[in-house]
Amino acid sequence: MGVQRSGIERDVEERLAKLVVELKRRGYRVTAQRLAIAKIVFENIKNHPSFMEILEAVRQRMPSISPSTIYNNLQLLEQMGFIKSFDVAGETRYDDYQLHANLVCLDEGKIVDLVDTELLSNLVEHIAKKHGARVYEIVIYAHCGRGSDVQGRPEAEEGRNPAERTTS
Ligand SMILES: [Zn+2]
Repeated sequence: MGVQRSGIERDVEERLAKLVVELKRRGYRVTAQRLAIAKIVFENIKNHPSFMEILEAVRQRMPSISPSTIYNNLQLLEQMGFIKSFDVAGETRYDDYQLHANLVCLDEGKIVDLVDTELLSNLVEHIAKKHGARVYEIVIYAHCGRGSDVQGRPEAEEGRNPAERTTS
């Protein structure tokens, strides 16, 4: 890695700046700890991290932090619209707030972001008009049928029947 700041770093800094404004506006304390947690969350959010993954990442820099502090901060970030969450195979995964669909592979447990803005905007608009509902998160379960190294991580056992998910 070079010394140049990546787009991701700039994006994280912009989000942190917005967070400071929003915390103040809502009367929350802007502490160094809160911002440090948010920074780590924002840095990892595209990977759809689980709570344990976030806990691990935060503890690498702040070893003595309690899980409840991290959890409360995640709740607050979600409430304020900076992150979203959804469940995959019974586990909460945190996600970026920007409009996208999550393609979850039932065979490998990988999550890939679909960012076809026009298609998704149409879908969101359609649901709003037809059902009066505001879309929060879009999750599509699919059989990817391949073992490529797309974004995400292997999780499900190989050859596991997806129908079992409902009973486990
Ligand atoms: Zn996503």
